Amino acid sequence: MKKEQIAVVEDEADIREVMVYNLERDGYRVFSARNGKQGLELIQAKKPDLVLLDLMLPGLDGLQICKLLKADELTCSIPIIMVSARGEESDIVSGLELGADDYITKPFSTREMLARVNAVLRRREPLSEKKSSVRIEYAGVTIDVGRHQVWVDDEPVAMTATEFKLLHFLAHHPGWVFTRDHLISRIMGEDNFIVDRNIDVHIQAVRKKLGPYRNLIETIRGIGYRFKERDEP
Ligand code: CA
Repeated sequence: MKKEQIAVVEDEADIREVMVYNLERDGYRVFSARNGKQGLELIQAKKPDLVLLDLMLPGLDGLQICKLLKADELTCSIPIIMVSARGEESDIVSGLELGADDYITKPFSTREMLARVNAVLRRREPLSEKKSSVRIEYAGVTIDVGRHQVWVDDEPVAMTATEFKLLHFLAHHPGWVFTRDHLISRIMGEDNFIVDRNIDVHIQAVRKKLGPYRNLIETIRGIGYRFKERDEP
């Protein structure tokens, strides 16, 4: 029996009921909300282990909730999976930039939903057993592995667990080119349904956060990505 508690915020009753039913059947403890305000209040009160958050909600929408949760130190570490309808790609990118960990697009299968939930909960585990404060420094970017913190020009930058793992993995192997498949398996785990485009969205979010150093992560056309070597211009 799994112990994790999951919040489902979804205004469409039939979708909400199916999600709750299947999560409970998989062993999770679940609570749900039918609008944004109720969802935010319940999440702040109960501090679940993960939130499944619909984008389009009456009143407070999913992006606003995501922003509020990530801005509050009591709730900022709760993983969020955005639930969107097709055609809301720009909102998905905004959600990932605000700190959401993943997204699923309606209609989704129960199997896909459970795989994403399991993967995100597993990713919450620390990157390595060693809690040593190893630092990687490039130009104005500092990555502190032990503290899971990134600084750009000495300013701390908030990254999601996924973004941090991606940046750390690439920066730990400068000059090496990695395919999207390789990055997915190294960063996300082997058994979920994340597609190529998802890696691109995460890379886009990391680059944006690196600001003036965004070009440290290069796109290698037709192959994937690489982190620049230290002496490269
Ligand atoms: Ca909705």
